[in-house]
Amino acid sequence: MNLILLGPPGAGKGTQADILSQRLGLAKLSTGDMLRETVKQGGKLSQKLQDIMSSGALVPDDIIVAMIRERIKAPDCTNGYILDGFPRTIAQAEALDAMLVAEGAALNHVIQLKVEDAALVSRIAGRYSCAACGAGYHDSYKVPLKEGECDSCGGKEFIRRKDDTAETVGKRLESYYAQTLPLLPYYEKTGILSTVDGMADIKIVEKQIESIIAR
Ligand code: AMP
Repeated sequence: MNLILLGPPGAGKGTQADILSQRLGLAKLSTGDMLRETVKQGGKLSQKLQDIMSSGALVPDDIIVAMIRERIKAPDCTNGYILDGFPRTIAQAEALDAMLVAEGAALNHVIQLKVEDAALVSRIAGRYSCAACGAGYHDSYKVPLKEGECDSCGGKEFIRRKDDTAETVGKRLESYYAQTLPLLPYYEKTGILSTVDGMADIKIVEKQIESIIAR
């Protein structure tokens, strides 16, 4: 099964992709995570990528498409994958369609997580993750069960993303509305687009997604 989770930054795509990935045994492909990993490794592209991401703009399509093209060939994608943060432009969606055709594969669901703008800023500004395993947390909505210790791996160091600031969120939302929102009519035409209320509690969103996938 191949799925896309679509929505603005802070909508909960990463959280739901983690849940689905564990439940269904699908690979989670987050282009944001892949880019952050590339930046961490250094190299000639690293600074350019870091600058674009810190500004809240989108990384050029050719870089992203090449990254995904390579990633979906990995063995963990054989059963399917959940795309989190990709595609973000019509050009990326068209490139994905071409890749799927070439592989004789198809998209099963595109699920939009709908969240009000006002909620996104506090969601983004409060989030952090375990430095060791990447498990996600939030100051208000999801704190570790034992204070200062990661639920998943017991790690004691936590990090916040450099672009998760109130200043950058505005620009990231602008990019979303200008470049990513046109994907909704694009996928609506294919009949595989569903919308869930991303304002609801994590568990309720999870149930809504489950029922879409069970259809
Ligand atoms: P995310 O972790 O999905 O919020 O992505 C963080 C940043 O990485 C975004 O603000 C963009 O600068 C960049 N990025 C991630 N995915 C894409 C994509 N599919 N296309 C272009 N830029 C992306």
